[in-house]
Amino acid sequence: MSNPLFDLTGRTALVTGSSRGLGRAMAEGLAKAGAKVLVNGTDPARVAMAVEEFRAAGHQADAVAFNVTSEAEVVSAFEALDAAGTAVDILVNNAGIQFRKPMVELETADWQRVLDTNLTSAFVIGREAAKRMIARGYGKIINIGSLTSALARATVAPYTVSKGGIKLLTQAMAAEWAASGIQANAIGPGYMITDMNQALIDNPEFDAWVKGRTPAKRWGKPEELIGAAVFLASPASDYVNGQIIYVDGGMLAVL
Ligand code: NDP
Repeated sequence: MSNPLFDLTGRTALVTGSSRGLGRAMAEGLAKAGAKVLVNGTDPARVAMAVEEFRAAGHQADAVAFNVTSEAEVVSAFEALDAAGTAVDILVNNAGIQFRKPMVELETADWQRVLDTNLTSAFVIGREAAKRMIARGYGKIINIGSLTSALARATVAPYTVSKGGIKLLTQAMAAEWAASGIQANAIGPGYMITDMNQALIDNPEFDAWVKGRTPAKRWGKPEELIGAAVFLASPASDYVNGQIIYVDGGMLAVL
């Protein structure tokens, strides 16, 4: 029998950027805990394929394909969910991009693109979700940060600023919405094996640096975020608010 503290049966979870990578792993974990998952990404074909695979595995899943940087698409996606009678109980703001360039060579447009995708989207989608959660007096918001929520790394300035912003946005959400029955928390993954990092994984020097500096001596696997995601989505975390849980093989402890 499943532990009711971690049971998500009857809950609906929207996970942005869940067509692949960390979002997909977390969506699968939430589905296994009983939630219906709303799968998102910019590529409708990839989203549809993920939905098909979730359903084939016996999970409840639907597609909600929108670009997180388009406020119009986000607003109309929430209106379509309202019209279908679907309430989002759990929101995971996961979609994000990485962009590496020394700051003196960085175009303002690239700075803006990273901030729009990683940070402003979490505010816009969080706002749309929270309006509805406040009306129902219940909601769980999980924002995906990074090690760079805690410290800076060279050549990823907009990413660092976006993820530092995620930490404080999470605290702002908790401060404003805790009294309405909403918990807003964040997860800060370390170096994980996903498409986003493929070039770094393939770079022997960088690979050796990650393995050498991480106390766990290896890259993280996407499914290793599931425990934190299910905890923060479930009744087990009802008095946890405004926190960031780092899932990093111990890296932040030594960096
Ligand atoms: P991936 O590049 O592997 O996957 C990104 C996902 O986000 C895809 O599903 C992609 O779908 C979606 N996505 C990207 N842009 C948009 C957009 N504008 N609108 C909607 N969906 C979008 O990334 P990861 O899984 O590695 O990263 C997920 C999150 O975790 C990000 O926020 C990242 O910053 C964070 N993170 C990752 C770490 C890592 O080591 N991998 C470490 C720390 C944090 P599609 O391409 O089809 O649009």
